[in-house]
Amino acid sequence: MNILILGSGGREHTFAWKIAQSKKAERLFVAPGNAGTAGTELASGGMVTNVAITATDFDAIKELVLRENIEMVVVGPEDPLVKGVHDYFLNDPELSDVAVIGPQKQAAQLEGSKEFAKEFMTRHSIPTAAYESFTKEQLEEGYAFLEKLNPPYVLKADGLAAGKGVLILNDLEEAKEELKNMLVEAKFGNASAKVVIEEFLSGIELSCFVVTDGKNYLTLPMAKDYKRIGEGDTGLNTGGMGAVSPVPFVDGDFVRKIEERIVKPTVSGLQKDELPYKGFIFIGLIKVGNAPYVIEYNVRMGDPETEVVFPRVKTDLVDIFKAVKSGTLDSIELDIDERAATTVMAVSGGYPEAYEKGKEVTGTDTIKDSLVFHAGTVLKDGSTVTNGGRVIAVTSYGKDFKEALQRSYQNMGKLRFDKMYYRKDIGFDL
Ligand code: ATP
Repeated sequence: MNILILGSGGREHTFAWKIAQSKKAERLFVAPGNAGTAGTELASGGMVTNVAITATDFDAIKELVLRENIEMVVVGPEDPLVKGVHDYFLNDPELSDVAVIGPQKQAAQLEGSKEFAKEFMTRHSIPTAAYESFTKEQLEEGYAFLEKLNPPYVLKADGLAAGKGVLILNDLEEAKEELKNMLVEAKFGNASAKVVIEEFLSGIELSCFVVTDGKNYLTLPMAKDYKRIGEGDTGLNTGGMGAVSPVPFVDGDFVRKIEERIVKPTVSGLQKDELPYKGFIFIGLIKVGNAPYVIEYNVRMGDPETEVVFPRVKTDLVDIFKAVKSGTLDSIELDIDERAATTVMAVSGGYPEAYEKGKEVTGTDTIKDSLVFHAGTVLKDGSTVTNGGRVIAVTSYGKDFKEALQRSYQNMGKLRFDKMYYRKDIGFDL
């Protein structure tokens, strides 16, 4: 079968690496991909093909799918899903048989609108922080709600704001000011035309990944990522500086709680609300005492969590995706590698603020006992050069996360590019 992956990050390189291991993948395309996807060999022979199409150019994607007889499209990032790529395929008679892995536009609102996600959780009794949402006409009510809460105050732009739309503030007056900035001054553009104000939850965060055909589901290994740029979880938020799987503080009892209180009601809630869903659900969780609460839903895999989750999944990913399409996910039994996996992300100096691109990346070919997943890289005149903030993820296995991390850090030392930076304390809190 010919398969297309949409996206260009470390998540998509990991998908490509995993799908390429399946003999069922005859040809594999990535749009637009990166230097790592282009260098991926297929078990069935040949190499992955990068195609210079952006993941939201649906007409160009259609042309590619028809030209190359592509039967499956795996959507990496949220943007094409929120913009309705799955619906685009279903509504076109020439494309409606193609398996699209990722939910339709309506269900993608679980990520596209924080209010939609909160209402979904409330409707299905899924534990999450208490909240109310406000528009600019309701500014005074918003102030009154803030006055009833204890600090810190959590303000969330309703729409997608590239991971920047959440503010956590200690001071009531500052929270009111920011609420006004978001609603009245459009601090996050249209994304903050509505703002969700939430009760602050105190605990440790983790990520749970589910793949569903809309009725049946499989829970993938849990992971924990490290979002801040600085060691000790300080400084600005990034797309993610590293991740570990499994998560040492998650025991069997806690997994059962997540399953019963969150995963099952989420999947059955989708059915009750008649929201067709074929794809990944990424549930951002926080452990408060011994109870799991949902912080957020994302409608795709996480990055860099994918770089530690899929190396631990031994089951053929194409089989999983075929079962997602046909609604037979109950026929698949997941085979999980018991080893720990960790990833450390090398980023461009200056990221997540201004940084330079086009720096030559060397040393990846000297790394033999870790997996190298490219994120922001591109091929230029036969060399790999940096093309984004997050550049390369080095994933390693180990008997526990400490051993795996040691390997990732050893191999990180072999990687070079001008102004390369990485956190040296991934897993420090575990
Ligand atoms: P991401 O960049 O992960 O997509 P996002 O912008 O969609 O994030 P959230 O995940 O909802 O927004 O919030 C970002 C971060 O803010 C969370 O990872 C968490 O650390 C913190 N946070 C959000 N809601 C709460 C809450 N109710 N209590 C405590 N911390 C919270």
